[in-house]
Amino acid sequence: MPVNLLDFDAEGLADFFREIGEKPFRARQVMRWIHQYGAADFDSMTDLAKGLRARLSETAVITPPQVAADSTAADGTRKWLLSVGAANGIETVFIPEATRGTLCISSQVGCALECAFCSTGRQGFNRNLSVAEIVGQLWWANRALGATPKGERIISNVVMMGMGEPLANFDNVVSAMKLMLDDNGYGLSRRRVTLSTSGLVPAMDRLREQLPVALAVSLHAPNDALRDRLVPINKKYPLKELMAACKRYIPSAPRDFVTFEYVMLDGVNDAPEHARELISLVKGVTCKFNLIPFNPFPDSGFDRSPPHRIAAFRDILMQAGLVTTVRKTRGDDIDGACGQLAGQVQDKTRRKLRRSMEASL
Ligand code: SAH
Ligand code: SF4
Repeated sequence: MPVNLLDFDAEGLADFFREIGEKPFRARQVMRWIHQYGAADFDSMTDLAKGLRARLSETAVITPPQVAADSTAADGTRKWLLSVGAANGIETVFIPEATRGTLCISSQVGCALECAFCSTGRQGFNRNLSVAEIVGQLWWANRALGATPKGERIISNVVMMGMGEPLANFDNVVSAMKLMLDDNGYGLSRRRVTLSTSGLVPAMDRLREQLPVALAVSLHAPNDALRDRLVPINKKYPLKELMAACKRYIPSAPRDFVTFEYVMLDGVNDAPEHARELISLVKGVTCKFNLIPFNPFPDSGFDRSPPHRIAAFRDILMQAGLVTTVRKTRGDDIDGACGQLAGQVQDKTRRKLRRSMEASL
């Protein structure tokens, strides 16, 4: 079986070239061809000797996930469904704005964590994505959007906010993010790569040690009783531990704060008391708030908070000195908004996982 070079970060590529008896700079050269020029075959790598190109063609491939569907929303948001084999599909979303272009990347086929308000959680879980499947989303999007290495950056920001819990696929997500940051890869700064987690505390610490990118934490509730219900992983890592992990992260964070995401669910977590409770919860944690109006999906059982309630909630946080933004809903007409990504998930392990998770909580 040929190896897929999209699976290797800089270190992995250097090892691969060492093993075939080539100098380390060849690895960097090939990395630029793959990730900056979007090369999918070795023949196009014109500054490599013919012999080396032939040898690479025999031992290696460059295989990204394949596009199965491509839709564009009225607001310009674009969503790709990518096939990852065995009738599984994942989704990637590009959100163009005046001053930046953000790509929202998936990390797993489905998600095992089952947050009550999330469409991905409803689909169940199949497997972790490989490095090639994670970074391949950026590779594809760059090609599809016509990015060139010397041209203006079309994708200026990446958010690990698509399907899946990125910290539950730690090693592959870290390798893929290393490629995003590498000067021979996509050259993005740590401030422009954001990982969103539902709060896997030990993995948050590992991320801080290994690759402290910008961190967003899905808070969604100001107390354990409500968070246990909305974000079940809270039973394992309750708020006190989560807040402590955030405090530990901040000194390493690229922008000195964490972002708390808070989905606005009508009549569930959006009362003024909840906002006041949040203020005391986050005391001592340098943070910003991002309120996300709930995005509906069939049979979710939740409604979006009305705009005046969201505004009142924001004002209470702002008056306490907490910078608070309300996330604009983008791409909801193609089910491309936060929490609406469903992809195609062959949920083979859901029952088993549910039982084992309940046992361990
Ligand atoms: N698994 C990670 C990242 C993916 S979800 C996490 O949970 O953080 C990205 C954000 O969208 C999270 O804050 C998530 O809680 C939120 N979200 C999930 N479902 C949503 C929905 N239906 N409407 C609005 N936001 C949602
Ligand atoms: Fe998984 Fe995040 Fe959805 Fe929760 S909100 S089910 S962690 S993808």
